[in-house]
Amino acid sequence: MSKHQNSSAINSRLPVQIDPIRLAVARQQLYGNIEISRFERLSELLTSNEGLVKVQFDFDVDTSKVHYVTGTLVAELSLCCQRCLQPMKWQLDAEVALAFVEHEHQIDELVVDYEPYLIESTPLMLSDMIEDEILLALPQVPMHDESECNPAVKINRQVEQVEAQDNAGQATSKRKNPFAVLADFKSDSKE
Ligand SMILES: [Zn+2]
Repeated sequence: MSKHQNSSAINSRLPVQIDPIRLAVARQQLYGNIEISRFERLSELLTSNEGLVKVQFDFDVDTSKVHYVTGTLVAELSLCCQRCLQPMKWQLDAEVALAFVEHEHQIDELVVDYEPYLIESTPLMLSDMIEDEILLALPQVPMHDESECNPAVKINRQVEQVEAQDNAGQATSKRKNPFAVLADFKSDSKE
């Protein structure tokens, strides 16, 4: 906490629920940290859900009357390497630029500077919005650099893959989806 020099001047407590349109009209800024463990969908993809996501959001209205938020989400996440199935540190440093829309037809009218964010009801959970953005920013197939990958585990995995192909006999040569691989990792790590 002491690293943030300006923390006394800003509101570093994040609200649980927000009305993004009102925040935009008020040109509100939100800064703060949120525990990674609060994100259930994200946690399923991680080998550890310890730590914090550093959130910085600036809400505003642009000259075309688009209500938007820009900002950053920063965290160190523990992903599961898809080659050796061992934990792998990955730096999240996501730029956020969302335009809030209340009706789907508004999405077509948006300029490309923003991703549309459809508000289904207000207030909305701030953590849901943050989690959506983190999930979009994750690498599709996280992998260590070849030199950092654990070779012993890699060999075991090849054996497993052959067995899996024998068992399933379909489409296993394609990349496994992250959830399936993580499930394998969890059952392997109970020792
Ligand atoms: Zn690896």
